[in-house]
Amino acid sequence: MRLKDKIVLVTGGGSGLGREMGLLFASEGATVGVNDVRPESAQNVATEITRAGGVARPFVADVSNSAAVKKMFAEFLAAFGTIDVLVNNAGIGRTRETGGEVELLGTIDLTDDDWHKMIATHLDATFYCTREALKVMIPKGAGHIINQGSIAGTAGLPFVSNYCAAKAGIIGFTKSVALEVAKFGVVVNAIAPGFIDTPMTAPMTAEAREWVISNTPIGRFGEPRDIAAAALYLASDDAKFMIGQVISPNGGWTTA
Ligand code: NAP
Repeated sequence: MRLKDKIVLVTGGGSGLGREMGLLFASEGATVGVNDVRPESAQNVATEITRAGGVARPFVADVSNSAAVKKMFAEFLAAFGTIDVLVNNAGIGRTRETGGEVELLGTIDLTDDDWHKMIATHLDATFYCTREALKVMIPKGAGHIINQGSIAGTAGLPFVSNYCAAKAGIIGFTKSVALEVAKFGVVVNAIAPGFIDTPMTAPMTAEAREWVISNTPIGRFGEPRDIAAAALYLASDDAKFMIGQVISPNGGWTTA
């Protein structure tokens, strides 16, 4: 059991990569707070974890809202008393409902709302949750924070400049905070996944999927487990010497 008795909060834990992390972490002995913006998503995953023999509880909040994050942390700490691991994972792949397949938006087509919503959901949320977690972790002298980046933030991707900016921002934020809090025993790192099969990538067109597969040396999308396994490592005591690092399970998309 690599996370025995650890108290974990996974944002965006009601779907895709967050759901997989919650299930894996709970199977390794953690108590899991499942955050999501939609109550049914958070509840469903918390129920799934409980049915599998784990301990979990839903925490509904829009993590791009500072007041909502403060309230969620107050509820979380009232319920569990502390936080050992924070995974800043909540995210969106697009800012507009286009009624099905993903529409490519060039930078000149982005509205102010497209820009701000993407930055808020990823970067503001990562800051808000990290700030609250550090208020507990620094005095305690221990903690792990894992931020969800992307190859979009390391290598860049065309037609998603707002998403790439948010993810690159998360990586810069990760490195700075990691250097700042390492001396307090708080370990901060990021993951930069390649393309993974989740509800976020499901609406991609057949043509876009083919483009991804042909640019991924392993020849396929990754599975949520590939990312959850990296997160489990970063959440565990084995990662104590990892400070401000970016681990990129990406099937070979980039080796940089
Ligand atoms: P997903 O299946 O859509 O899960 C993301 C979850 O976050 C959803 O339940 C979503 O709710 C929730 N969420 C969105 N905005 C939120 C907010 N403001 N507050 C709380 N929860 C919110 O996507 P995923 O593929 O698992 O992605 C998880 C993370 O990995 C994201 O940060 C994403 O950018 C990153 N990532 C994904 C891939 C990939 O290929 N899948 C690759 C690299 C990085 P709704 O469903 O209601 O929006």
